[in-house]
Amino acid sequence: MNESEKRATTKKTTRTDPAYGALRKRPSTMDFFRKHRAGILIVLTFFCVVLLSVGGWLLIDWLKAPDHPTATTASDHSSATTVSDSRGPDITPAPLPLDGKIIFLDAGHGGYDNGCNYPEDDPVYKEKEFNLQIAIEAKKQLEALGAEVIMTRTDDSFISIYARPALVHLFCLDYLKENGLLSISADTEMRLREGMNQAIQINSTDISAGCMGAMVGSGFSDDLIELLELEYQLDHIIFISVHNNWGSNTKRHGTAVYYVTDESIIESEDRLIKKDPYYANPDYTVREHYYGRDGERNRTLARFLHDSIVASAPELNNDLPDLVTDNFAVLREQGLASVMLELTYLSNPEDRELWTDPDVVRKMAEGISNGCLYYYNNTDA
Ligand SMILES: [Zn+2]
Repeated sequence: MNESEKRATTKKTTRTDPAYGALRKRPSTMDFFRKHRAGILIVLTFFCVVLLSVGGWLLIDWLKAPDHPTATTASDHSSATTVSDSRGPDITPAPLPLDGKIIFLDAGHGGYDNGCNYPEDDPVYKEKEFNLQIAIEAKKQLEALGAEVIMTRTDDSFISIYARPALVHLFCLDYLKENGLLSISADTEMRLREGMNQAIQINSTDISAGCMGAMVGSGFSDDLIELLELEYQLDHIIFISVHNNWGSNTKRHGTAVYYVTDESIIESEDRLIKKDPYYANPDYTVREHYYGRDGERNRTLARFLHDSIVASAPELNNDLPDLVTDNFAVLREQGLASVMLELTYLSNPEDRELWTDPDVVRKMAEGISNGCLYYYNNTDA
């Protein structure tokens, strides 16, 4: 027993011991609490812990409930997100920059038509494969920006140069009809559809087999002119043909973009009809010149695409003419704003090497998607 314990004992004895003449007191409530103070504190502490735990769990459940109004506040949402009702937030996706835009990606060649080959006799590099590869990559990027992308081919199939614009015409006929814009007679529409389907089914470049369908060669039929006039108004739909080039001069390399104007078509047709026996075929109809195409619009699209591609992949920059007018059937035979990309020269060793680098391929596709973005952002399209 130590000194302090002794003092406590002495004090207690003094206050309760009958030897000092005081009656022995009955134990009071306070005495009970004093005597069991430690036990009572332990029990109270235990109950407090239990109460706090149960309360905490209930609070967490309440906060987690999806319809709890303070779990998210209006200020937590971006402008594109709204809280509609007690069922929870109604997430409305933010608009993408190419929402509502429609882009045809036309991977050149395919099937038995390899396009350019290197080496020419036993090809390892086939243009048709690179064209499809870049079109697929560009499609992914354009769709991520919100565009609707339509491919004229998605595998190694042969699609003729007349079947491709025929696919465009059928799409435009459907689109114009669905949107109440098809201001041609039912008979004209029927003849055009039959002719386009014929070009797709025949799917060849044999004029005598009727490969052109509703397209007639030099110039355009009256039916097609009616449809072209409507297609010229579809500014938000564009057509990009993807190719790679070949030159006898193996030093030539890099990107050029081709487009058509009325003048480039007419000049080329006149020249070809005089000199090329292909166009002397009696089934190749020569018609009056027809003017109506917006060549300046094609040039603007070509400019944005070229500059964006070489900005993204500087390896493709060169000192050759970057924009070139010509007379390709896939551009000539339909009325959308359209260009043909010649991304690299497969005849050039450095350009061929680029196709082994996935990073360069990705950059080319990025150049195409950025070019479309700039075109739409900087024109009325
Ligand atoms: Zn080609």
